Amino acid sequence: MGCGALQTSPILIIGGGVGGLTLALSLAKRGVACQVFEQSAEFSEFGAGIQLSPNAIRRLKSLGLEDKLAAFATAPDKINIHDSIDGAELSHIPLGAMAEARYGAPYRVIARQHLISLLLEAVSDEPLVELFTNKRLLHLFQDGQSLVKAVMEDESVYEGALLIGADGVWSRVRTLLNRQITPTQTGLIAWRALLPERDAPALLSKADTNVWLGPAAHLVQYRVAGGEKINLVAVTKGEARPRSWAEDLPAELLFEQIRGWHKPVRRAVMEVGGWQAWPLMLLKPFRPWFKGRAVLMGDACHAIVPFLAQGAAMAIEDAVLLADLIANSEDINREDARDIVLTHYEAERYRRCRRVLSKSIYNLQFYHAKGALRHVRNGMLRFTPPKFLLRQYDWLYKE
Ligand SMILES: Cc1cc2nc3c(=O)[nH]c(=O)nc-3n(C[C@H](O)[C@H](O)[C@H](O)COP(=O)(O)OP(=O)(O)OC[C@H]3O[C@@H](n4cnc5c(N)ncnc54)[C@H](O)[C@@H]3O)c2cc1C
Repeated sequence: MGCGALQTSPILIIGGGVGGLTLALSLAKRGVACQVFEQSAEFSEFGAGIQLSPNAIRRLKSLGLEDKLAAFATAPDKINIHDSIDGAELSHIPLGAMAEARYGAPYRVIARQHLISLLLEAVSDEPLVELFTNKRLLHLFQDGQSLVKAVMEDESVYEGALLIGADGVWSRVRTLLNRQITPTQTGLIAWRALLPERDAPALLSKADTNVWLGPAAHLVQYRVAGGEKINLVAVTKGEARPRSWAEDLPAELLFEQIRGWHKPVRRAVMEVGGWQAWPLMLLKPFRPWFKGRAVLMGDACHAIVPFLAQGAAMAIEDAVLLADLIANSEDINREDARDIVLTHYEAERYRRCRRVLSKSIYNLQFYHAKGALRHVRNGMLRFTPPKFLLRQYDWLYKE
């Protein structure tokens, strides 16, 4: 570790979501002290599921989380792809042993709360990490020379060598650095439900991951919590009030969008209770991601549409790279050394996240194809050998 000065000037991390907690753990593992400030009363996540592809799992493994992941997360054997109009199974993407052999880590799915819990447990064991809840960042002050100051809503003030905004798509840190950058509505809504396996319709409690592709909507289903719970996410067109996490929209709006679907699938979706709606937001690519001693990571600088299941994975990648660069910096308190670190971080991560965003947007067109395009898509899926469907993600999962 090159930056001994950080022992007395911690790194301040704003936000204790997947990105902030992974960063805290990565820094501590490299001998760098940090403080995490979470605005909520506890570190928690909405009880839905999350897919973690091999690129994310490899990094979490490098932080010593392999056993915990194996205990909490499932590794589906494949992703089965169905057409939602006639219900036919079109193909599958092999995962399981094939993905693990190819990418050096499995493809896993996990309940979000379990992911946060295992990260939290790991950082709680690290003497170099201090965790704070009920601390909402309001302001930051920096003059380029002395330490950066974070001012919280309760008027407490903290000083650090760097301040990292891991505070999500509505980032306060980003607003303080550049008011012009704001998230835009995509006109899409993600409907989520998490239900006990015994309460789920048989068609929606299959093993492995299942995706139904439809003209105005698609549906993803997988098991979490050791198979005891079924996670469902449907994406449809629709507007909702932004900034709200679990918006109270009636599920009839979802049912309306899947009117033309194969009856058994539609009936199964309608049997599920507790659908909650999420307006999907997008941050158009922008730079810079840093100013002086303050820098952004995760959804705060690259909130993407979730059609490649990579948002949290990108936050995890940011965290591991940023921690490496900080730990290997000559002296993060020196302006020239700091600029080298932050410029390197931004360049590498911007390139990767832009590519992920482009592919995510492409996937949306592919998933929601209608008319002749739907037949072209289905033909392509039927005639491409499954192993090639997996290999198209080599660029993503291998890096
Ligand atoms: C429907 C849907 C499905 C998805 N599926 C996947 C998937 O399968 N795989 C995947 O990799 N990604 C997925 N994502 C994306 C993923 O959820 C996000 O990219 C990820 O949670 C971003 O992590 P983060 O730590 O950057 O931000 P967040 O998880 O948003 O965490 C930000 C934290 O900062 C805190 N905070 C905010 N403001 C302040 C403040 N002023 N002061 C202090 N604390 C503050 C918040 O309370 C929160 O705890 C999905 C997203 C959606 C919407």
